Amino acid sequence: MSKQFENKVALVTGSSRGIGAAIAIRLAADGAHVVVNYAASPARAEQVVAEITRAGGHAEAVHADLSTLEGTKTLVESVSTVFGGKFGGCVDILVNNAGTAEYGPFLESSEDSYDKHYDLNVRSMISLTKALAPRMIEAKWGRIINIGSRLGEGAPVAGLAIYVSTKFAVHGFTRALSRELGATGVTVNSVQPGAIDTEMSPDDGGPAAQMMKKLMSVGRFGRPEEIASAVAFIASPDSAFINGENLTVDGGWNA
Ligand code: NAP
Repeated sequence: MSKQFENKVALVTGSSRGIGAAIAIRLAADGAHVVVNYAASPARAEQVVAEITRAGGHAEAVHADLSTLEGTKTLVESVSTVFGGKFGGCVDILVNNAGTAEYGPFLESSEDSYDKHYDLNVRSMISLTKALAPRMIEAKWGRIINIGSRLGEGAPVAGLAIYVSTKFAVHGFTRALSRELGATGVTVNSVQPGAIDTEMSPDDGGPAAQMMKKLMSVGRFGRPEEIASAVAFIASPDSAFINGENLTVDGGWNA
């Protein structure tokens, strides 16, 4: 039986662990050839590739530190060769997932921290999209999916002002670009997760985790696979009429 992403190439940034790893595994299970990008965790990226390969899928791990412009360029160059030219270097599904969050009072924050957040959470998304969208437009089909956050709509917790501002930028960029690309066959959407149990936001039983659970009416953290399902849905051919949407997947937090 054919799979929905057969003969499609997907690039998932920051997919050595957490939400990105789950997205890579899910898109590969649906037939995509997946580029698993990592910065600091090569062994874990190889584990993701091994899991995909064991299940009969196709994936390659590619190192690129997306907090630098050089890293973003390296990634674009690598994806055009990684699958041996089989797909002409075209990425069909771009998932801008890599992100970082530092918790702490804004008045104690540093310029370094602003750069770290904006270079990775915002600039890498914009640079990769600019580099890869033209080939999607040529092919008259593409999916650009940006991982935002429920915190990109509001700020129910203190101590994340810089991170929250980057996620507002992710949602704003998504909506604005969807207007420009809408008629080309390339859709631009974002997914905004609630609290998902990963290293960024662990369900460790502590006071912060307990408070987060109360915000979500399902009473628990989400699993990375639950974000991956939403991404697969938006990437699917069935979602051609969904454009400029910030899909909330937050266990009822937003209700
Ligand atoms: P995570 O567990 O901390 O994983 C982050 C991923 O990003 C890792 O694969 C990491 O790879 C990669 N990464 C970090 N710095 C990078 C860099 N400079 N270049 C390339 N890759 C880099 O985070 P997560 O919870 O899965 O979050 C994924 C996305 O979802 C982020 O955009 C985050 O803001 C968003 N989100 C998360 C939650 C949540 O509750 N977890 C909620 C809302 C939104 P290496 O280890 O190889 O560097």
